[in-house]
Amino acid sequence: MTRNVMAELDAAVEQCNQCGFCQAGCPTYKATGIEWTVARGRIALIRDVLAGRLPLDDSVREPLFNCLTCGGCTDHCFPAVQTAQIVTKARAELVRRHGEHWVQKLVFRQVLPNPNVLGLAVKSLRLSQITGVEPLARSTGAVNLLGQLGAASAVLPKIPGKTGREQAREAIKPLAARRARVAYFLGCGTNNIYPGAAAAAMRVLNRNGVEVLVPEVVCCGKPPISYGDEAAAKDLARRNIDALVGLDVDAIVTDCATCGSFLHEYGELFADEPAYAEKAKQLSSRVQDLLQFLAALGIDQTFGKVPARITYHDPCHLGRFQKVSVQPRDFLKSVPGVEFVELPEANMCCGGAGSYALTHYDISMMVLDRKMENVARTGAQVLATACPGCAMQLSYGIKRQQLPVRVKHVVEILDQAYQSAG
Ligand code: SF4
Ligand code: SF4
Repeated sequence: MTRNVMAELDAAVEQCNQCGFCQAGCPTYKATGIEWTVARGRIALIRDVLAGRLPLDDSVREPLFNCLTCGGCTDHCFPAVQTAQIVTKARAELVRRHGEHWVQKLVFRQVLPNPNVLGLAVKSLRLSQITGVEPLARSTGAVNLLGQLGAASAVLPKIPGKTGREQAREAIKPLAARRARVAYFLGCGTNNIYPGAAAAAMRVLNRNGVEVLVPEVVCCGKPPISYGDEAAAKDLARRNIDALVGLDVDAIVTDCATCGSFLHEYGELFADEPAYAEKAKQLSSRVQDLLQFLAALGIDQTFGKVPARITYHDPCHLGRFQKVSVQPRDFLKSVPGVEFVELPEANMCCGGAGSYALTHYDISMMVLDRKMENVARTGAQVLATACPGCAMQLSYGIKRQQLPVRVKHVVEILDQAYQSAG
C-alpha cells in the first residue's frame, strides 16, 4: 500500500476494540451470520493486510466488496469506527494495485462521463423491454448464462419513455415572485428511472417561489468510488465542479440521497489537489438535499388531501450520512389524510447500495426480504423514501413479495397534496 493510505488505514483500524457491538447494526451480518461480513471481521482482515500477514489480493476481495458501506455498524460502535470509509479506501488500494474488471472500466470511464452514451444505453434497455427481448431472455433462462447478474437483471424496473431532464423542462413554470434560486443536480437514477420525481421536484420548488436551473451534469462519481476506481470518480467530480461552482444560486439541491451525500465529499476528495481543492470545498458546502432545503425555506402548507397510510424508509445516504431524517417525516405528517406509521428498522439499509444487487444478488435479497417483512408489518399502502437507488430496490422487494404497496419519493407526495388542493 502507499505510505499515506497505510498510515490512514492503520490509524482508523486501530480504533476498533473488537467488542462486536457492530453486529447489531450490520445488515450483511444479520443476513449471513458470517464474521467476515461484519465490521469487526472486515477490520481484522484489513489489520492483517496492514501487518503483512495477508496479501492485498483476491483473498480479501469478497469481504471488502460484500460490504454495503451503509454505516449501520458505526451507529452501534462506541469509538465510532468509520468502517464504510475504511472499506472504501481499502477497495481503492486493491484496484490501484490489481486493476478492475474491464466492464467496470468501460462503464466508469466511457459511459458515465458521456450522457449521450449513457442515454443510448438506457434507451437500448428500454427497447429490449418493449420488444420483449429482455422478458424472453428471462423466461427461456438465457439470463442464467450470466449467473447472479442474470438473476439480478430482474431488479431493473421498466425504463420510462421520457427522461427526468425532459420532464423537468416541461414542468418548470415562470415565477410571479422569487424567494430563492437553486441549481438542481439531476442524478442518473432520477433522470433515467424515476423522471416523475424530477417533475414533482420542479413543481414543488416553483410553487414555493424557487427558480430552478437544471445544469448539464454527469454522474456524481459514487459508483466508481464504491468500486475502488477513485481516478474515474475524480474525473466525473471535476466535470461537475466545473459545471456548478460558478453558478449564481443560493443552493445546489438534489432529490437523490446518494448524489447529495457524495457531492458533500468532494471537498475531502480534492483536499490534496490545489487546482480543485477550494472549488470542491465551496461546492460541497452549498449542497443540500431537496427536502432539507424545502424545510429550511418553509413551504406553503395549503395541501389537499392524500388519503393513505404511509411509512418511510431512511436512505443510508440521507438519514445517516447527511443527518436528514426529521424533515421527510414532518412533511409526510403535515399532509392531510396521511396516516403516518413508523417503519421498524427504518434506517437499516435496504440492500440496494447502488448496484450491490447486481453484484451480490443473494445477500442483497436476504437484506431486502427483512426490509419487506418490516414494510408488511406497517400495513402501509405507500412506502416513501428519498433516493432513486432505494426506490428501485424497494420496488423490486414489493414485486418479489407481492405486497399491495407503492413506492414514492416524499416530494411526489407533496406534489400530489398540492395538486389535490388545486
Ligand atoms: S463495534 Fe466498533 S469497536 Fe466494536 S468490533 Fe465493531 S467496529 Fe470494532
Ligand atoms: S458498512 Fe454496513 S454492511 Fe459494511 S460492515 Fe458496516 S453495517 Fe455491515
